[in-house]
Amino acid sequence: MCGVFGAYSASGAPVLEDVYLGLSALQHRGQLSAGVAWTQGGSVHIKKGLGLVHEALQQNELAEIEAHAAIGHVRYATAGGTERENSQPLGANYAQGPVAIAHNGNLTNATALSSYLANRGAIFQTTCDTETIIQLMAHQPSTVQLEALENALTKITGAYSIAVLFEDCLIAARDPWGFRPLALGRRGDDYFVASESCAFEIIGAEFLRDVEAGEILVIDRRGVISRRLPITAQRLRHCSFEYVYFARPDSVIDGRSVYAARKNLGACLARGGKCPQNSIVAGMPDSGTLAALGLAQEAGVPFEAGVVRNRYVGRTFIQPTQRVREAGVKIKLNPQPGIFDGKEAVIVDDSIVRGTTAGRTVSTIRGAGAKKVHMRIASPPVRYPCYYGIDTPSSEELIAAQSDIEELRVKIGADTLRYISCEELCESIGLPREELCTACFDGGYLDEEESGGRLEV
Ligand code: SF4
Repeated sequence: MCGVFGAYSASGAPVLEDVYLGLSALQHRGQLSAGVAWTQGGSVHIKKGLGLVHEALQQNELAEIEAHAAIGHVRYATAGGTERENSQPLGANYAQGPVAIAHNGNLTNATALSSYLANRGAIFQTTCDTETIIQLMAHQPSTVQLEALENALTKITGAYSIAVLFEDCLIAARDPWGFRPLALGRRGDDYFVASESCAFEIIGAEFLRDVEAGEILVIDRRGVISRRLPITAQRLRHCSFEYVYFARPDSVIDGRSVYAARKNLGACLARGGKCPQNSIVAGMPDSGTLAALGLAQEAGVPFEAGVVRNRYVGRTFIQPTQRVREAGVKIKLNPQPGIFDGKEAVIVDDSIVRGTTAGRTVSTIRGAGAKKVHMRIASPPVRYPCYYGIDTPSSEELIAAQSDIEELRVKIGADTLRYISCEELCESIGLPREELCTACFDGGYLDEEESGGRLEV
């Protein structure tokens, strides 16, 4: 998962500080690296570094650069290693001029495309799937850039929400299935694109609309022109996990409020089974909190902020190694003293992936005095890996793929354990199941036929 941001000022105002602020609002989507790109004097310029936005980039330095169009990226690694050269944006100056790209999602045919291109002389600078898009463009040296990009996009499959920069033009494009979110915003004559609408607030821009699945926006001095990719998807596949876990609750994605979806998920859990007498409801911060609130309100049971999160430790799920992940869990969450004493604790979390966090949570809450610990999960069991941009592990490491729910309950040490179904997930989000991807829950991946059979170049 990553975050992308793009800005274009038709009045010629500098925009790099806006990009910096936009990336800061998208920090939850990636903490491994951050970067920005702009064009000047016919060349692409890039600044990027490892770590959080404020560690990787200098705000005051960016504020002084006179660029009226720029893109930015925050990264967490799903394809390619964690090395600095895989940080984005990626950029190049080729026969048709400068190009830079920031990408959220995973391309499912990147390996096949890379070998095809390498066999024709392409020299890859990174191990990042995104580079195949630039290489595909560079292999069309006499085709104008927009056309070359559109041709490149017809060759790739999988998930991409991208911001692309040419010499004097910002492009935003979303794959035909709409896996990852992408939003369009405006402030006077300035236009912005961002992975989530929450990034517009901080720069004083208004959220106009979502970029549609299969849409390409061309933003330049004339304004915004909408084009369509020449590919028709059989159905939409907006990532349902964005609503459960990944997106910020103050974002609206594909017309649905993440905040409302999370509370609905909790209410759904409440309708699935009564809370015991003398119970209190608490959520695992931050992504379990709203579902816990929804559950408590629907069930009429007291809600307590019973678990305190150390805000200076990153999100467990997006740290790249098991060792760091485990260390993160230990220092990240602490129960509020006295709150659980003699109570039946109903603890709501967004999901169970490897089971490390859930097991530790149950023993911690029990250790804090709870008589019983009832785990409630605001999503269906995660049984399959994601190939579209979220770094879930292989099925062997997914605890729900290896155990049924009763075995899983025993493994994590809870007194009861309850999930919601895929149908309930979609109802809570408020979109039809045929418009949502639920592949990590039910294994319903894009098949070759649906992806258009464009696996070969
Ligand atoms: S597989 Fe899961 S995480 Fe991946 S896009 Fe689909 S719903 Fe989202």
